[in-house]
Amino acid sequence: MRKYVIMGVQGSGKGTQSELLAADLDIVHISVGDIFRWNVQNHTKIGAQVRRVMAAGELVGDDLVESVVQSRLTGHDWNFGFIIDGFPRNRRQAEFFLESYDIDAIITLDLPDSEVRRRVLNRRLCADCGINYNLIDDSPAVPGQCDACRGELTTREDDTEEALAVRLKTYHEKTNPVLELFGRKEYVVTADARPAPEVVQAEIRRKLSLPPQKQQESQENASA
Ligand code: AMP
Repeated sequence: MRKYVIMGVQGSGKGTQSELLAADLDIVHISVGDIFRWNVQNHTKIGAQVRRVMAAGELVGDDLVESVVQSRLTGHDWNFGFIIDGFPRNRRQAEFFLESYDIDAIITLDLPDSEVRRRVLNRRLCADCGINYNLIDDSPAVPGQCDACRGELTTREDDTEEALAVRLKTYHEKTNPVLELFGRKEYVVTADARPAPEVVQAEIRRKLSLPPQKQQESQENASA
């Protein structure tokens, strides 16, 4: 059973790194932002409560976030463990989490703010299948159209200059202190988020003392 938290500023690749680790270790990736986005898209009560707050780049209230996280984690489809992304975002959430769960490691992704802006403002999302693109080095073959399902590519409502400024400020003010709290109590590993995703993943795995990713291992054997 492995329980990880992944933290990092917007655009640092938390989702991508979580997916890579989750697929390989057979653990569940829980993204609190995705849960909220799903609720907004599906016009649920929760969606109505969070839509404006999210679009402005602000944090959703702690009571609601904690109940969403708790109900997701008590859903229990994580026999081999989980990696949670986007939570905790402040001191209160961190204390709530530490009381209930025994975390194996906190993975933090480091990215300078200048790179965050470049990445986030070039991010696009398929409105139909949810695949992420970035217009810097992962553009779709046909502009504005998803390669996989031909769905329309959209911009996340909170990937604007204004909302990003709020999100970055909040991250530095509220989320950074969480790392200090974890740093004292738990095992924190930090990876440089600037290189290509597979390089970042390899660094995370090395620091967690995990074997190289299966696919990477077979590539290494093939080239040996
Ligand atoms: P993310 O995709 O992680 O950037 O989350 C998108 C948005 O969802 C955030 O800007 C917040 O409005 C909301 N959100 C996600 N996780 C949390 C959290 N732990 N606490 C408060 N709000 C959150």
